[in-house]
Amino acid sequence: MRLTRRSLLAAAVAIAVMACGNAAPRPDRAILILISIDGFRWDYFDRFTPPALTALADDGVRADGLLPEFPSKTFPNHYTIVTGLRLAHHGIISNNMRATDIPGEFSLSNRKVQADPRWWGGEPIWNTAEKQGRKAAAMFWPGSETVINGRQATYWTPYDDDMPNRDRVNRILGWLTLPENERPSFLTLYFSDVDNAGHSSGPDSAEVKDAVLRVDAEVAALVSGVTAAGLADRVNYVIVSDHGMSAVGTDRVIVLDDYVNVDHLNIVDWSPVLALSPNDGDVEKLYAALKGKHPALDVYRSSEIPAEYRLAGHPRLPAIVGIAKEGWTITSKRNVERWHSHERRPPGGEHGFAATAPSMQGLFIANGPRIRRGLRVKPFENIHVYELMCAVLGLQPAKNDGDPAVTRDMLQPNR
Ligand SMILES: [Zn+2]
Repeated sequence: MRLTRRSLLAAAVAIAVMACGNAAPRPDRAILILISIDGFRWDYFDRFTPPALTALADDGVRADGLLPEFPSKTFPNHYTIVTGLRLAHHGIISNNMRATDIPGEFSLSNRKVQADPRWWGGEPIWNTAEKQGRKAAAMFWPGSETVINGRQATYWTPYDDDMPNRDRVNRILGWLTLPENERPSFLTLYFSDVDNAGHSSGPDSAEVKDAVLRVDAEVAALVSGVTAAGLADRVNYVIVSDHGMSAVGTDRVIVLDDYVNVDHLNIVDWSPVLALSPNDGDVEKLYAALKGKHPALDVYRSSEIPAEYRLAGHPRLPAIVGIAKEGWTITSKRNVERWHSHERRPPGGEHGFAATAPSMQGLFIANGPRIRRGLRVKPFENIHVYELMCAVLGLQPAKNDGDPAVTRDMLQPNR
């Protein structure tokens, strides 16, 4: 029964994709939907063959992986994808951070602090579009709730993890069926199911497979809705994830209390990137207490982080940064006790590790009338997605770290 339903979905997507035809419409009429499937590791695609995503990839472009910036966390990488900027240039260097010139602690749950535009550097593509006379819509995206450089997408939705996926798809379809002069040409859509399943049950779990197929059905519903609205010849899809997922377990744990008294520290971020400073101001004592003490934990003064991470000396870093090796968790003794007493479930998966770990690579698929058909490319850095999206929409890109040459072959040559 399930297989039959999936086959039907795949057929519906294939028909919708074929309806796009070969003619690339004028860029000023092009529409682009940027879809994030949070935590979708690159290899889930071949392991689970999600039918709608497979149909879009077969008839479009697929990369073997999308390389995140370090740390491979959610907010930093979502914001890189929409700005084309490396973390150090847009300022969202972590999900959790502090700044000397901005009050409060930036975190995923602290909406009030997030609303301060001083955190958000660069120009997100919804602002690029609005500045150039187009309308944009965000069905969730980090940064979309903040007025950045005096602008915001015309349409946006405050983040609500409980909003059903189908309602998110329907919100997109509602915006797309507005009259032409109100219709957005750039839209975002966000799904958290795959990341949630990866964290709780690990990347090799049945829960992850179920989540991938569940989200895939939503993508199928979106494509069907776009076709029903008569917009298949204008809508392009760019489907990404912000990072992959590594299996972690209670057998690979770095307990911070083994080396320092955590009550005497100001800990901004825990794992796999530890960001902390001493309450007594004695940075060297803290550094000496952690440096070289655990074989899976590299410890740096924030000014001395290796160049490959591109964050050395960033003003939003605390004095000391620890980076766990792939698959390791940094935590407190109290937290380990909670795992043992079943008060809290130990994590099954984590991300944040360097992109040199293949498990951290994400998903990239592009499809639509302005996108080449049947092209498979090697993994590339997510800083280049912004330039591609601007090219699809015919927008003049803002200054960014991406190179349009990296994605040029993905565009239809006859545009
Ligand atoms: Zn994420």
